[in-house]
Amino acid sequence: MRAAVLAAPGGPGGLVPGERPVPEPTGDQFLVRVSACGICGHDLLARKGSLAARPGQVLGHEIAGRVEAIGPEGDPAWLGRRVALVQRFPCGSCAECRAGHTNTCRTGPGFYGEDLSGGYAEFVLAGPLNAVALPDSVGDAEGAILSCALGTGLHALRRTRVAEGDVVLVTGAGGGVGVHTVRIAAALGARVIAVTSSAAKAQALRESGAHTVVPVSAGAQGVRAAAAGLGRPRGADAAIETTGAPTFALSLRSLAPRGRLAIVGNTDPKAVELRLGLVILKELDVSGSAHANRQELLEVVELVASGRVTPVQPREFPLEDIAAAHAAVESGVLIGRAVVRP
Ligand SMILES: [Zn+2]
Ligand SMILES: [Zn+2]
Repeated sequence: MRAAVLAAPGGPGGLVPGERPVPEPTGDQFLVRVSACGICGHDLLARKGSLAARPGQVLGHEIAGRVEAIGPEGDPAWLGRRVALVQRFPCGSCAECRAGHTNTCRTGPGFYGEDLSGGYAEFVLAGPLNAVALPDSVGDAEGAILSCALGTGLHALRRTRVAEGDVVLVTGAGGGVGVHTVRIAAALGARVIAVTSSAAKAQALRESGAHTVVPVSAGAQGVRAAAAGLGRPRGADAAIETTGAPTFALSLRSLAPRGRLAIVGNTDPKAVELRLGLVILKELDVSGSAHANRQELLEVVELVASGRVTPVQPREFPLEDIAAAHAAVESGVLIGRAVVRP
């Protein structure tokens, strides 16, 4: 099969066309013909060599496609179905999986592009534990990004217990996860303060449901002024941190007492300073949030199919143009996601 292979960690040119054997489904696994695969900040870090991916790896964990074959114990009802995949393929039987935390399973086939061959290729393996049927009303490119770009936001909003009427801060709001977290939070009835470094994205964020758009240069003071305007003089109820180190201090200082912070993104993998006095005196909850699980992907598919949330239409590239697609994502000018189509 055709694939884009990480030949050498570094710039976008390190991703080159290659050939790989078509994987063989075993047990109840599926062979999925990839129709689209999204590109996110995680892929950029993987390409640069900052994550677990090694030379020779096929990256890509944001996958939609069609089930083309099933393993000997597979359910034939899946054959021919269009599916979206959760980015981690769990085992289904470990303690984490049994408790419903399939996103932190470490004994299954694993994370696409790291533990198993990813979606920058014509085919991937999947199974009933990480596949969700896609209705015809949801296109391939949109379907590909549902788990990572939308499910991640829904998971983080759950981790921070965001409810209708809450004031929630979203940093990196112009990014793929950011803009969709704004849209989902607004659909859930929260009031959103969107923080972005790009003035050019302010209008699109307002159209996505952000109540207020604050430039990152305005700092925590700017966010708290916006929160005060929404009836929260002591700060926001929750913060979804999609960039990590660059805005971590801003997020922490923008929260009201008992505010909840979920860290979703880690665009700069360096350590940050945690002001313990602030966490103690305001009784803040600081939590991590790791992508999404299958139940959340099901909910996202329903939110999109019902029209309550509309994904930003991804920009599409042929698989052969993977380097250009990575460069476009890296430039930061795109709103939403880019996908490659094998
Ligand atoms: Zn992703
Ligand atoms: Zn497991």
